[in-house]
Amino acid sequence: MCLAVPMKITGIDGFNATCEAKGIQREVSLFMLQGEPVAIGDHVLIHVGYAIQKISAEEPALPGTCSTKCSSMHELAICQALIEQVQRVARDNAARRVISVTVSVGPLSGVEAKLLEHAYPLAAAGTVAEHAQLVVVTVPVRVRCRTCKAESEAAANRLLCGSCNDWHVDVIAGEEMLLQRVEIETADEPVH
Ligand SMILES: [Zn+2]
Repeated sequence: MCLAVPMKITGIDGFNATCEAKGIQREVSLFMLQGEPVAIGDHVLIHVGYAIQKISAEEPALPGTCSTKCSSMHELAICQALIEQVQRVARDNAARRVISVTVSVGPLSGVEAKLLEHAYPLAAAGTVAEHAQLVVVTVPVRVRCRTCKAESEAAANRLLCGSCNDWHVDVIAGEEMLLQRVEIETADEPVH
């Protein structure tokens, strides 16, 4: 949960808007409101540069909380970092476009695959990876037992040694989110 600030839209230019509150002007992105059309004069909640929710003018102009959309903001930030990585790979390999992006997500990474898929098109818009397919592979949690030294898979909510059931284990996989594979099309290759 975090703080979102209510502002009034004073101008709209595509996916960007100018907002105003208490005499302060801000440029914000309307990307998160794609399913919710807004117009000049509407009030919206702003969170880290994104309008995240339309609110009625009658609602008290107090900072609100955004428990639901904030979690997707987290995934959006992750996607933006991911896209930067993908763009680097694309540039290094003289890619004309990116066909697919595969990421592995561990259950303990704190990244929701569904939210990641939702946020991906927003982060990829206007980049070489714009129409790339995002493939999210969930990897299992693996632990190493401190008692019997065995390595085994474990449930994310039950970190026990699969061999002796001891809870003195170290997580060796499942906390990461990694860019695994970038499938690209280069200029020399014909389009299939
Ligand atoms: Zn063990």
